[in-house]
Amino acid sequence: MSERPANTPRDAAAIILLRQDTNPDNPEVFWVKRSDKLAFLPGFYAFPGGQIDAGDAEVAVRNAPNPETATMISGAARELFEELGVLVARGGETLTKGQRVSLLDDLESGRMSWPTLLQHYELYLDADDFTYVGRWVTPPFNARRFDTWFFLVTCPSKQEPNVVAGELESGEWLPARDAYDRWMHDQVVAVPPTLHALRTLGAGITPDLVERFLSIKEAHGQPERRITFRPNYICFPVRTPTRPPATHTCCYIVHNSRSMVVFDPGSPYEDEQQALAECIDDMIGEGRTVREIILTHLHPDHVGGVNALREHLGGNVPVAAHAQTAEALHDVHVDRLIKDNDVITLEGEPSVRLRALHTPGHALGHLCFHDEQRGVLMTGDNIVGVGSVLIDPPQGNMRDYLTSLERMLALPGLTVLLGGHGPAVATPYKKIQEYITHRLEREQNILAAVRAGASTPQEIVARVYTDVSPKAHAMAERAVLAHLEKLRADGAI
Ligand SMILES: [Zn+2]
Repeated sequence: MSERPANTPRDAAAIILLRQDTNPDNPEVFWVKRSDKLAFLPGFYAFPGGQIDAGDAEVAVRNAPNPETATMISGAARELFEELGVLVARGGETLTKGQRVSLLDDLESGRMSWPTLLQHYELYLDADDFTYVGRWVTPPFNARRFDTWFFLVTCPSKQEPNVVAGELESGEWLPARDAYDRWMHDQVVAVPPTLHALRTLGAGITPDLVERFLSIKEAHGQPERRITFRPNYICFPVRTPTRPPATHTCCYIVHNSRSMVVFDPGSPYEDEQQALAECIDDMIGEGRTVREIILTHLHPDHVGGVNALREHLGGNVPVAAHAQTAEALHDVHVDRLIKDNDVITLEGEPSVRLRALHTPGHALGHLCFHDEQRGVLMTGDNIVGVGSVLIDPPQGNMRDYLTSLERMLALPGLTVLLGGHGPAVATPYKKIQEYITHRLEREQNILAAVRAGASTPQEIVARVYTDVSPKAHAMAERAVLAHLEKLRADGAI
């Protein structure tokens, strides 16, 4: 048994690299696009960094206030070197580019550990080169979490960052304000610490720069509640009794200057309902009205807080859902029915239009919402950022599910998926295709098991779901049933 629960945050460090002699009014930073293949936030724009290694603590850092800070600085410097080839070490000023490449090769090939390498070449780290600008903890809605220390570092002279490791897809220098503008124009997906850094630097390198970095509680390890992966979309994860590894459901508040729509306020817990209500009250205080509460589907972890929120808002905010959701819900009254292709338009600036897509499969009345202008697809539980999607008959239907995934895949211009659990998905087409491929592979394996004589869902699970823990076998049997129904409907068995 591991002593550490799966989603305890792991120590990590990142570097916000500033260009030397940059314009202090709008400094240039080096940001990177994370590889599509990474398990954590693939396709996101961020700063170089990563998890602390055991060896990082063995590096002596001059002028460090304490051993913990020294370890974090050491880890940040190592990640920067590994990912961008930039070596922020004193004594290294006379190294040529070729020598640095060979040092990097020593490190990457494992010929030398990070502490050994520094010692061997008589290099040392100095805490004065690393300005601490905050510590951010991944909110608990993600199965993978990090407690990341951020350092502001000026790129040493005669060094140019260069994306070298497979963890990054690309990287570039650009003025902080331009980077933030790209996010504002829906061209990138980023997490709150990245956006906070860009906003803070965008206001210029002033004497109170560090103070501004540290001026919010999220920069002191308090996980962010209002997560804006994209402008006009707040993801507000609420704790719910959902299916592990998910622990939260993403409630979304889609908004503009005057209106907002709340999707899936799913928590039955009072403290979580209260936190969401406070967020919505703040937004009302800024001049917006809640137009509707919308449900993607009927599952309890998506509707558990609807009545409480409606009551909090004085009882006169309508609830909208698909007819098949309305029919099946007993404890929640649905006031307005949403049909396939209905468009929801928010009054106010900028314009926000969402097209409803009836996408059954996970549930009969399941809806997705497509913002064509921004390339945002709210996927409900059809695609999720953490865990897997259960297709459980009779609400679940595998044939419908695959048809819905194909329909989602055919939508043009998608740039991000916002799912019912976990973080945003910045690789939309890759993710949808993975889901389709995964289901079709399972289907082929189930078909093979049936042809080889397996005759009950239990027997099929034992043969096919060898990658799934026995604890999840009851759930897998439901999925097998869904696959068998599809195979029968297809005429394959
Ligand atoms: Zn669900």
